[in-house]
Amino acid sequence: MPYQSGSRLPGEKASKLGHLEVLKSELVNKLCSNFELPAKDEDITSQELIWQPYPTGYEPLPIIFGVDGSIQTVKGDSVPRKEMSFIKTALLRLDQQALAKIDKNNPHPFALKKIMTDAALYHATVLPLKNVRVPGVSVLDSVREVIFESMKDDSLNGEPLETLKWLVYEKWDGQEKAIPPFKCPHCPSQAASLPYGAEKGNCTSCGGELLITDMLGFHQDMAEEFAPETVGTSYMLIHETMLLFTGIRLYWESNREILNDCLFIKDGPLSIRAQYSKLVAPIRRFFAFAKSEGITVHLMGQEKTGRFVDFLDVSYRNAPIGSIFIPGDKFIKEEVQHRPEDGAAYGVDTNYGSKIFMKIDDYHHMVLSIPTGTFKPNPTLDDLIGADRIFSTLPTILSSRFEGALLPIELANGVASLSTYPSARILQIFADSFDKG
Ligand SMILES: [Zn+2]
Repeated sequence: MPYQSGSRLPGEKASKLGHLEVLKSELVNKLCSNFELPAKDEDITSQELIWQPYPTGYEPLPIIFGVDGSIQTVKGDSVPRKEMSFIKTALLRLDQQALAKIDKNNPHPFALKKIMTDAALYHATVLPLKNVRVPGVSVLDSVREVIFESMKDDSLNGEPLETLKWLVYEKWDGQEKAIPPFKCPHCPSQAASLPYGAEKGNCTSCGGELLITDMLGFHQDMAEEFAPETVGTSYMLIHETMLLFTGIRLYWESNREILNDCLFIKDGPLSIRAQYSKLVAPIRRFFAFAKSEGITVHLMGQEKTGRFVDFLDVSYRNAPIGSIFIPGDKFIKEEVQHRPEDGAAYGVDTNYGSKIFMKIDDYHHMVLSIPTGTFKPNPTLDDLIGADRIFSTLPTILSSRFEGALLPIELANGVASLSTYPSARILQIFADSFDKG
């Protein structure tokens, strides 16, 4: 989700006069005159960055999938203000043949548009956040219902929900497993569960209806009559992940050898936060299982914002061309996160991929994540699943329009984007007309 204009600009409403007063303050002026900028060549870290050449010359992966999503929250004009989040996610397929036809330096817009219409599928939904609901039930239950129905979206044959079940019940090896207990959305019970393979059931404590999507814990972020926008963001992230894993699952179930030749690219890190991180352990186990079966599932995430990106933006200049640095636990905590080294290992509960800093040339540097299967606090190049072919594929999918951008993500973003005019305006009008209805 690279183009989030608007949603990430907090505190921009402070008045200009307020700024003037701060600048006139004697204390502020005294403090500012004492601050000093770090010397230009000063090392930004106390620890050494160990850059190593990344593998090249392997056969680029011929089939590439990119996934992205976007969210637009709109508020009605009349009181009580209705609030809804529109969400769109997209999966785009590219092959090396199509890529070969695109002029990387000056891509023809029609050629890109053709890929975006012919080779993409998308999902769109809307979550009621405030003062709007499914008739007869609370906002909380409305959102739960909408999330469940959206995952079953007919336009995608309900595949993302099947993928969620495939992941949480760990269906890839055909052995029945119980899902971890979760918090019931109706009563204080922490031990709600569902029988193997089920998508609906009842709480054994209160008898209330349970949906498979409840195990992710969306309801833990909501009040009875209010859902924050973060519920929409979490849904979008989960849905993007399910879209990618739908591709992986369908090949796994039909002809898993094909996975050896596919690359799946997710916009953003390979991590799932807070209660939703229940998906992380099953995903890691899938990667470990596939590896043990001799199938290499190539997956990578690319992040464009955040601390890792800020860190690389400063430190890549000293790196040799064509190299990567795989930071370990201690390095990440001390140099990237600036927190004490004690406590749990970085990403142990939330990440299903390890971070990699990469410098391709002077124009392209990026922060990637690649799965290792079993969690490794200090991964090496050999731990990164399918790294040799992933790194050999990257130069073939670089976009020349943005620094460090990858064409599959850029195109998926083009399909998923809701933020550009006029669609944002259309959604606003839609919300307003809904208001009057
Ligand atoms: Zn219950």
